[in-house]
Amino acid sequence: MREIGHFIGGKHVPGTSGRYADVWQPMTGEVIARVALASKDELRAAVENAKAAQPAWAATNPQRRARVLMKFLELVHRDYDALAELLAREHGKTIPDARGDIQRGLEVVEFAVGIPHLMKGDYSDGAGPGIDIYSMRQALGVVAGITPFNFPAMIPMWKFGPAIACGNAFILKPSERDPGVPMHLAELMLEAGLPPGILNVVNGDKEAVDGILDDPDIQAVGFVGSSSIAQYIYARGAANGKRIQGFGGAKNHMIIMPDADMDQAVDALIGAGYGSAGERCMAISVAVPVGQDAAERLLEKLVPRVESLKIGPSTDNSADFGPLVTREAVERVKGYVDIGLKEGAKLLVDGRNFKLQGYENGFYMGGCLFDHVTADMRIYKEEIFGPVLSVVRAPDYKEALRLPTEHEYGNGVAIFTRDGDAARDFASKVNVGMVGINVPIPVPLAYHTFGGWKRSGFGDLNQHGPDGVRFYTKTKTVTSRWPSGVKDGAEFVIPTMN
Ligand code: NAD
Repeated sequence: MREIGHFIGGKHVPGTSGRYADVWQPMTGEVIARVALASKDELRAAVENAKAAQPAWAATNPQRRARVLMKFLELVHRDYDALAELLAREHGKTIPDARGDIQRGLEVVEFAVGIPHLMKGDYSDGAGPGIDIYSMRQALGVVAGITPFNFPAMIPMWKFGPAIACGNAFILKPSERDPGVPMHLAELMLEAGLPPGILNVVNGDKEAVDGILDDPDIQAVGFVGSSSIAQYIYARGAANGKRIQGFGGAKNHMIIMPDADMDQAVDALIGAGYGSAGERCMAISVAVPVGQDAAERLLEKLVPRVESLKIGPSTDNSADFGPLVTREAVERVKGYVDIGLKEGAKLLVDGRNFKLQGYENGFYMGGCLFDHVTADMRIYKEEIFGPVLSVVRAPDYKEALRLPTEHEYGNGVAIFTRDGDAARDFASKVNVGMVGINVPIPVPLAYHTFGGWKRSGFGDLNQHGPDGVRFYTKTKTVTSRWPSGVKDGAEFVIPTMN
């Protein structure tokens, strides 16, 4: 069986802790590899490597650092098919969706290629007599990223692309569920000319994560995963004096106004609610039709579409979605459907008993659709992270705005309408970090920033875009004076510009 160790100092190294996790192939339900789970000592070895390599990398001029990323982009394109297939096998998403996962990661690396410009500082000439002030951005040193299972290509690239471009050395702790792609990406960075030790992959679980949070040489940690772990990472990392960003779970609403183009809204809901089996932090999990008439028109079109979703193995390019990531995930999601029924929601489409012929051991379930879900139900309040869409009927726009605004998650939200006034009011007032207007998954492009609010995001800088560079650098400000004849003696009062 394939054994996945760690990638430290530019080399594959086997795990020495004696602890391993199985890597499953969700489409068949088989174990296809095992991955080593690092001890704190193994993590420490990676940090030592990174620490030794980082100063020379930071001293390399930014154009040369950018050229390594350019070469990396070329190499990922060379290996695109193999990466997408590996990703689909370990994660379960379909190959076309796996290609999108890789592409959205590459776009952030493309953005990071602009690092010579992105790291430029500011200069104030003549701020006082003979005084100039300038600021510069410098790398932090050794930084880390801890990433979730659901985007094993995109999120690692969102983290290490900007961090490495800024001159840091990086420790990546990917999800233990699908570690194959992150390992391959690290190999490609080395092949692209990255010095050994600048990108290290340490596979593991809580022990490796705690090692990262407590390590005195790690300056910053970018985390993406569920909210309870994001909060834990934020608290423990910050208590140790680190810079932390922790992105968490979600419950994304889509408001359907009475004037919306209903066909467009249904297409959007089907793709954003059920794509990748609902295992996306920007998936739509709550549909909010406004008014009785909009609800009826929506459901008339939506129900047959959910009933006819095509579920297939990850290698079937015509499938709408593939299996979920693990058997436990299927059980958890089905458990939520049971809870919804007990809570009194009306199950219009029940996908719990779905079986895929020839793949009976795979981790599949069909699409589920609930109507008459209310804000006090657990299926509304909690993240389900599966192919389950809840319809919450709102009598008017005011209630439709209140629901996502008062929900404890605040990752993404969308409004479908033809009314510019309503859309503008909604975008301005809703208490959520990313808003789509007639766009169901409003993941901003690489040159804007990505981040949720409330329990969807801990910390104050977003991912990628300008914030990605800010997060992985610190600002130094230099005030210089060349007096050329100005003599004002000792000053005991705080200097001012009076
Ligand atoms: P997870 O929280 O289980 O795992 C994320 C990472 O934390 C993994 O690397 C894992 O090894 C580690 N981890 C798990 N348990 C831990 C523990 N007890 N202590 C320390 N570390 C631990 O999340 P997941 O299941 O891999 O991913 C799905 C979640 O991620 C969903 O909640 C989804 O909404 C969220 N997500 C959020 C975003 C975002 O940008 N907000 C993006 C993608 C996914």
